[in-house]
Amino acid sequence: MSKSKEEYIRRDGRKVDELRPYSIRTGIFKNADGSAEIRLGGNWIVAAVYGPKEHFPKFQISQDEAILNCRYHMAPYSTSERKSPKPSRREIELSKVIKSALEKAVLLEAFPEMSIDVYIEVLQAEGSTRVASITAASVALADAGIPMRDMVVGCSAGKVDGHIILDVGEYEDKEGEADLPIAIMPNLKKIVLLQMDGKLTHSEFREAFELALKGAMQLYEAQVNALVSKVKEMGEIEEAEE
Ligand code: ADP
Repeated sequence: MSKSKEEYIRRDGRKVDELRPYSIRTGIFKNADGSAEIRLGGNWIVAAVYGPKEHFPKFQISQDEAILNCRYHMAPYSTSERKSPKPSRREIELSKVIKSALEKAVLLEAFPEMSIDVYIEVLQAEGSTRVASITAASVALADAGIPMRDMVVGCSAGKVDGHIILDVGEYEDKEGEADLPIAIMPNLKKIVLLQMDGKLTHSEFREAFELALKGAMQLYEAQVNALVSKVKEMGEIEEAEE
């Protein structure tokens, strides 16, 4: 590590503590109960929510709470080489990881015997898709009017060239020394996902975690803005119709 933290510029031109350019939109699909899109650098991910609805098959029904079904899927054209459209082991694992993060926030107990489906489609992938997917899915759940304890927002940090960096891009994921994806409930201050790949010392872990938290709070603001914009748009449409 020759350059200081302040001087170090990443391959895509970012400083160590900079997110990739991002945008979040909601209400993007007319046929889903709720939907959202996130763009984060080259990541382009859409999420759609159906429910709460009667659960099938009946034998799986839970008397106590709704079942949250979650599918994370990468389109064949989302990666540098064509990906098989069949769900890979990685996609099955990430579907579970994302479900477990979102489950902490959704008031499942309000809908016994029902289910809520979350479909996440990665149209274009560029590193840290699991956390970006969680961020989009949470907005889609809110857009569907599903009661939640808090939003869920995800962000990653990592280590590249000896530097702790925010929001791990694809080449940083492949060539970096560590990757730390996290997801939180920002108001309740609870962690709902914490994974780590690679090696970090205790102090590096602390620094990476703090950085990922800072990034998550920036994305949380974008989540809220997306939802507020949609409500405003709906108000304008209603006013115009009166
Ligand atoms: P995450 O997307 O959450 O960082 P991974 O660490 O498994 O999850 O993947 C890192 C990145 O590698 C992905 O964001 C994507 O850009 C790329 N990637 C994942 N799966 C494939 C694949 N099958 N083929 C090519 N690139 C992939």
